[in-house]
Amino acid sequence: MNVPASIPALIRESAPGDLQWNSYVAEPIIVDPATQQWDDAADVLIVGFGGAGVCAALEARAQGAEVLALDRFEGGGATALCGGIYYGGGTRFQTEGGYPDSAEDMYRYLKQEIGDAVQDSTLRQFCNDSNANLEWLVSHGVNFGSKVYTGKRSYPPAGYDLYFSGNEKVPRYKAHAKAAPRGHRVVGPDFTGETLFAALKQSAFAHGVRLRPHTRVTRLLLDSASNVVGVEVQEVPADSVGRNLHRKLIRSVNKWRRLFEPLALKAVEQAAAIEQAHARPLRIRARRGVVLSTGSFAFNRPMVRQYAPKFAEAMPHGTLGCDGSGIRLGQSVGGATGYMHSVTAWRSISPPEAFVEASWSTRMVAALLMKMPTWVIWVFILPNSQEAVPG
Ligand SMILES: Cc1cc2nc3c(=O)[nH]c(=O)nc-3n(C[C@H](O)[C@H](O)[C@H](O)COP(=O)(O)OP(=O)(O)OC[C@H]3O[C@@H](n4cnc5c(N)ncnc54)[C@H](O)[C@@H]3O)c2cc1C
Repeated sequence: MNVPASIPALIRESAPGDLQWNSYVAEPIIVDPATQQWDDAADVLIVGFGGAGVCAALEARAQGAEVLALDRFEGGGATALCGGIYYGGGTRFQTEGGYPDSAEDMYRYLKQEIGDAVQDSTLRQFCNDSNANLEWLVSHGVNFGSKVYTGKRSYPPAGYDLYFSGNEKVPRYKAHAKAAPRGHRVVGPDFTGETLFAALKQSAFAHGVRLRPHTRVTRLLLDSASNVVGVEVQEVPADSVGRNLHRKLIRSVNKWRRLFEPLALKAVEQAAAIEQAHARPLRIRARRGVVLSTGSFAFNRPMVRQYAPKFAEAMPHGTLGCDGSGIRLGQSVGGATGYMHSVTAWRSISPPEAFVEASWSTRMVAALLMKMPTWVIWVFILPNSQEAVPG
């Protein structure tokens, strides 16, 4: 390992070059910002242009910064593939739908649901800010509505805007927190993550955010005082054969290949091979800061085995950009990590409403079903249930 001596030696369980590093992210390099030949520059660089990245970009622009976003693929990430469900409490849409709610009840419900999976102060802030954050999304063109679906579904039927997306109505939870529909579905067709991201992207571009797609950040650049002053990227050039291949690959993964695990994991290698053959290295200056917003590490299987081995057999959800590189970029300059084992995995069925509010014996049956392998649920249970999502 060859990390510059001036970087404080914070806790690292692995570092570039270690056997446990499991990432293409390379160790940082010290440069002189005044003499370095920069290929592009901005006040703030956003590394990863999914949901978190586009929000950070909009906020940085609102504070007057010139913003450049960099994305390994076309942007959108897992956000553009998600259900577009915003979990919030105490919103005007709930009141309009006949279910006035509060941040306090949202907190009390979630506290039972997630225990100590996140810090209590984080959970509090998440709940307290949920209404203001939803209004912020509205101000950037994301639409919500107030038509409530009162039945039990893992995803609301078309035409409904609000639903009970969790276990809010289960008596054990209801005893501690007033049940309310808190799943706000972005208005749009089908799975509305795409609509959500499209609105935010459009707003970001309208506010002057620039995007360099097909640009993978591989390393942070430091000045002699260990300040991050830029990034090194591998960019597949526009109008090249490589760009075309890269674009086709990510679109096919996002459209259907991600649902077939072996094909999706093969695509991880194919993306790397295209980048290896066609990308060119560039150095980009960050005058005021770099935001790391690169999503999860679900598609970096060695990292999953390293940090969350219990879930190594679970099918990865998301997209090829979920490669853990932002985590590694942070660690490469001494950033400490936490809760790396704390991942979300689902094996859910959506039984009829009666199941949820049912007797102990019925719920015992449901619990047994949840312990069955996913294929059992698909093959034998699904035909009799309302719907299901893959586990
Ligand atoms: C099927 C599915 C359904 C879901 N439904 C919901 C839902 O309804 N509601 C909800 O709240 N959550 C949902 N989630 C979870 C939610 O989608 C994610 O938590 C969220 O999208 C993460 O956003 P992000 O910005 O952190 O990451 P992403 O949206 O994945 O964005 C990360 C971006 O970083 C880019 N990137 C990665 N590495 C680099 C690099 N080195 N250089 C440059 N760019 C890089 C990627 O290409 C990607 O575009 C769902 C997830 C899945 C998979």
